[in-house]
Amino acid sequence: MTTIDQTPGNLTALLPSVMKFLDREPALLIDGRWQPARSGETFVSRNPANGSTLAKIASGDAEDVDLAVKAARRAFKSGPWSRTKSSDRAQMLWKLADLITEHADELAQLETLDQGKPLNVSRGADIPGSAETFRYMAGWATKLTGKTIQVGAPGDFHSYTQLEPVGVVGQIVPWNFPLAMAAWKLAPALAAGCTVVLKPAENTPLTALRLGELIQEAGFPDGVVNIVTGFGDTAGAAIAQHPDIDKVAFTGSTGVGKSIVRAAIGNLKRVSLELGGKNPSIVMEDADLVAAIPGLIQGSFANSGQVCTAPSRIFVHGSVFEDVLAGLSDGARALKVGPGLSPGSQMGPVISERQLVSITEHIEGGVTAGAKVTAGGGRLGTEGYFVAPTVVSNVSNEMPIAREEIFGPVVVLSPFREIDDVLHMANDTQYGLTAQIWTQNVSNAHRMATRIDAGSIWVNGKSMDIALPFGGFKQSGWGQEKGVEGVEMYTRSKTVVVAL
Ligand code: NAP
Ligand code: MG
Repeated sequence: MTTIDQTPGNLTALLPSVMKFLDREPALLIDGRWQPARSGETFVSRNPANGSTLAKIASGDAEDVDLAVKAARRAFKSGPWSRTKSSDRAQMLWKLADLITEHADELAQLETLDQGKPLNVSRGADIPGSAETFRYMAGWATKLTGKTIQVGAPGDFHSYTQLEPVGVVGQIVPWNFPLAMAAWKLAPALAAGCTVVLKPAENTPLTALRLGELIQEAGFPDGVVNIVTGFGDTAGAAIAQHPDIDKVAFTGSTGVGKSIVRAAIGNLKRVSLELGGKNPSIVMEDADLVAAIPGLIQGSFANSGQVCTAPSRIFVHGSVFEDVLAGLSDGARALKVGPGLSPGSQMGPVISERQLVSITEHIEGGVTAGAKVTAGGGRLGTEGYFVAPTVVSNVSNEMPIAREEIFGPVVVLSPFREIDDVLHMANDTQYGLTAQIWTQNVSNAHRMATRIDAGSIWVNGKSMDIALPFGGFKQSGWGQEKGVEGVEMYTRSKTVVVAL
């Protein structure tokens, strides 16, 4: 039985800059000024490793969002941003990436404290990945082009399209990759020339706030990026329905995504959505299990399974089912679970008590319905929000544990015999975000990739590189982030026709 070691002496010591940041006055970034919420209200952000209060955060609401939108509109229409050249935008984005790199240790500690993930993951993946997002999108700022179009109708015309920034953008992000998600949102919008009102998740506002300070240091003019911390149903809802926001970009649950679509109707603002998933992973008879099993363990339990792309439904060919089940269960039991600041931790806590309860209820519901737990199965310890890496078999595709997104360290395994059957089960879901195929048969891999309804298909391994367009089918979302698609979604195309 794993025990959670929270001995303070065994945890990485906090940097002085981190302690200072945690003590700052709660404030929102509006029009280049850090200011309290108009209401004066605050809330706290907690450390999920022990439930303690980390910092006081300003609780923005509709009034603050409105001020932020006004600042963003001014900056977009008449401020220096409206006259900024694409090459200047690129330089600012690159400078911001350099500042993130310079402050990587500090940002990594803030991320781990606030979100829970192991420090080596924050430091090795989340923070450098965020810097890379800004660098990649800096490149697109100078490379957006329209096209010239020949007119076939009678007459002599010169016609072309031009890409323009879409305007003031509202961005709402979740708590699983706080800085990386903020970067995915901000970088393309700024590269395209938009101005932004960003709302971080109430559970994890710290790195977005520190990013706000770095944005100022990088030289972005006042009002270009506004950061309003607060709750989803107040600050978030105010962004979704604001009549002077031109586009809202959201990452989060499918349920909230639908409420954003409804709220956006008022001014028909554009909406892009990155939503949930219940991603099938198919292990064929000829899969290289030496690669597949560690790949599935990493995919299922990284970030405590709180990953929208996690391979949470694993279908294994009957001939190798017992091997894969045993390999995954052994791997799950071997993972060292502990506080993110403990140097040996491979998996941290889940984000909150609410999430802990929801995950353990899903597991219990599965067991009641007849599922079999072969590793983990519930909470670890009594302090903080730790859940054991859990492997479940004996499930049918109808059980809630196999259909609902759990967003925790829980995977379900089912055997199959025929390709047609497994493709049917893989597609039998409201979601369509990602899918994995493990096989050494290249022809099968391509045929199956075509037949699976998901926005990203990973064969024999995954990559989330910033250059790869990423978005969900079905109820997993609208639009694609990353790649050139990710920046074009913050532009509008205008057709200009000149009779010569
Ligand atoms: P969530 O409840 O949908 O929250 C996401 C964000 O929306 C948070 O900032 C939240 O604010 C805000 N929000 C909540 N209610 C709102 C409302 N009525 N109007 C506007 N904004 C509102 O999701 P979560 O539970 O934090 O995150 C987990 C979900 O996100 C999972 O379903 C997961 O699959 C999905 N996700 C998807 C992707 C992807 O790329 N497709 C990536 C990561 C996560 P507060 O937190 O402050 O209340
Ligand atoms: Mg927190």
